[in-house]
Amino acid sequence: MIPGARLVVLGKQGAGKGTQCLSLSHHYVISHISTGDLLREEVRLKTPLGLKAKKIIGQGDLLGDDLIVTMVKERLDSAEVRRRGFILDGFPRTVSQAEALGDLLAPNDLDLVIDIAIDTGVVVRRLSKRRVCTGCGRNYSTTNRPIIGWTCDTCANEVVQRDDDRPDAIQHRLEIYEAQTAPLIAWYTERDLLVTVSGVGAEETVTKRMIKVIEDRRNRKGGRLS
Ligand code: AMP
Repeated sequence: MIPGARLVVLGKQGAGKGTQCLSLSHHYVISHISTGDLLREEVRLKTPLGLKAKKIIGQGDLLGDDLIVTMVKERLDSAEVRRRGFILDGFPRTVSQAEALGDLLAPNDLDLVIDIAIDTGVVVRRLSKRRVCTGCGRNYSTTNRPIIGWTCDTCANEVVQRDDDRPDAIQHRLEIYEAQTAPLIAWYTERDLLVTVSGVGAEETVTKRMIKVIEDRRNRKGGRLS
């Protein structure tokens, strides 16, 4: 493994982006930038942004591009992220965000965009079962519960169902995904940056598939990423 990479992971809600991004961020020693996690932290801290975001997130709607781009820019500007690279999770989510990301990174570009492909029926079942820790964000499910009640094994905070994982919000988020985010697949394909991996199977199996496509890209670029 050679550390450092500049990656974007796409996929429907429930495709496993968060879990996979975390594994890859450890593997490549890069920052995991999840806009959903950053926003949920703002909500938890009741900041002005968090108070504004709470309702929008709960309904499954998207926050405005300008606000999200500003938040991501702050993270991309950090010395650590510039030096090592990053894996973006949940951003970009619209073509306009993808254009803004291109501007933020210029004159460099992303190394690779990985789309985790999975059927809608599978993600609806996964999301309905998903439970998440209010402290550290660790994911559980009704069939993979914490050891003691709904108390997180990692940080002992409460494990709950996200408001936006309730049936109405799931449906709405998937519609928004199809309308606003799915066009990014063609957009990044045209720029020769997109690779699709299947999101079916065990977590480790999907991680291995993702590492393989990253390494294939590294080899294609003569051993260098970022
Ligand atoms: P996620 O955890 O990525 O599913 O994000 C949870 C929620 O945060 C989304 O449903 C949106 O309301 C908001 N959000 C996260 N990322 C973005 C983004 N790139 N653009 C707009 N809204 C976002």
